[in-house]
Amino acid sequence: MARASPEQMILLEQLRKDVLEVMHGLEDLVSFDLNIVSEVGLGLLRKSSTQRHGVTRWTRSTEGIQLETVDLHPVLLEPDWNDYARFVLFHEFLHAIGLRSHNQTFRWHEALWPDSVGPTRGVEFTDYMRMKRAKWFWVCSQCEKRYPRQRAGKGKYQCRTCRCRLEDVPIVDER
Ligand SMILES: [Zn+2]
Ligand SMILES: [Zn+2]
Repeated sequence: MARASPEQMILLEQLRKDVLEVMHGLEDLVSFDLNIVSEVGLGLLRKSSTQRHGVTRWTRSTEGIQLETVDLHPVLLEPDWNDYARFVLFHEFLHAIGLRSHNQTFRWHEALWPDSVGPTRGVEFTDYMRMKRAKWFWVCSQCEKRYPRQRAGKGKYQCRTCRCRLEDVPIVDER
């Protein structure tokens, strides 16, 4: 977990407010204690995390399991990602209020989120993160698709479409 700056905390709190407002309006959530999510500490994931976009952290002790924090990816605080950020936070808040695993019940509640675009942007966000951090393109000589990556592929990978061996092109040289 990375420490949030005061500016980032303001954005996180705004997201919490927006998401809670939606959750309070969802009839199917009336049996859950939403105070849990108005009170839980919010934090940020490390910038380097590309696969995880949000996480709900728990601590285990002899008394059982306790909710600790909900962390979001810091790049989700960029205005362009607001709709996805809200959905990710909603997803984590569902964990926080007691739907701990990704089972059918969880997915059913997750589908209550009223915005239809935000929830579809996960892959786009992962690609965006990869692009931001990439030092290499793995390039397909057949279809010219470029895969942004942090490491050189050293000829070990093939194109998802054509199955051709991908060649390394350093990104610095192309700018
Ligand atoms: Zn989850
Ligand atoms: Zn290809």
